[in-house]
Amino acid sequence: VRVVSNLYPALDRQEVVVHSPRHATSVAELDVDDLHAVAEAWRLRAAAAREEGFPYVHALVNEGREAGASRSHSHSQLAWLRERPPAVVAEDELAADGCRVCELVADELRDGRRMVAEGGGLAALAAYAGRLPYELLVVPVGHPAGSAFRDDLLPGALELLGDAVRRLHAVEGAVPLNAWLHDGEHWHVELVPRLTVLAGLELGAGIYVNTLAPEEAAERLRDADR
Ligand SMILES: [Zn+2]
Ligand SMILES: [Zn+2]
Repeated sequence: VRVVSNLYPALDRQEVVVHSPRHATSVAELDVDDLHAVAEAWRLRAAAAREEGFPYVHALVNEGREAGASRSHSHSQLAWLRERPPAVVAEDELAADGCRVCELVADELRDGRRMVAEGGGLAALAAYAGRLPYELLVVPVGHPAGSAFRDDLLPGALELLGDAVRRLHAVEGAVPLNAWLHDGEHWHVELVPRLTVLAGLELGAGIYVNTLAPEEAAERLRDADR
């Protein structure tokens, strides 16, 4: 794993994490050692960012040209930010009177219909109200003590992300996708495959038309022959 500066940064500091010397084109092709090395690179660079006055690092994976990836070789990006981004602020505001993610995970474990995979203190589940088909969450089952970048569960979360993308590939092929870490009160990884395009209803009204129920998405991914 190697970390380099983004040649075309959109922000002050933006780094590219090259996931493997092999020409893997997806996190689905990375093995456990690769994924753990990626987690370690994220951890080290987030620590460097904090030291340089960037307390929040937005870690993201884009796969496929339609999802914004300019290179096919598997990589992630680390955008160093001076403050938490609006999406994370909005989620944490919801948590003002108790952790909504803890509530969600407890409900989903009890219900089971949207569970995709579970293990090592983490769960992968189909988002209850996903914006697009197969939107998934990878999340620690227990409330984390702090940042994902200081959490021993981060390598396992990337393993589960790789597993989820392998399942997705088995069901739908190598579809373009975006994934990112929300390093808020209860950190989690969100995975949004880009099987449909965002149009005027979604972008203009914030109303997302998702043609695949999360229960159906979870069932297909659970049964995937990966
Ligand atoms: Zn929580
Ligand atoms: Zn989130």
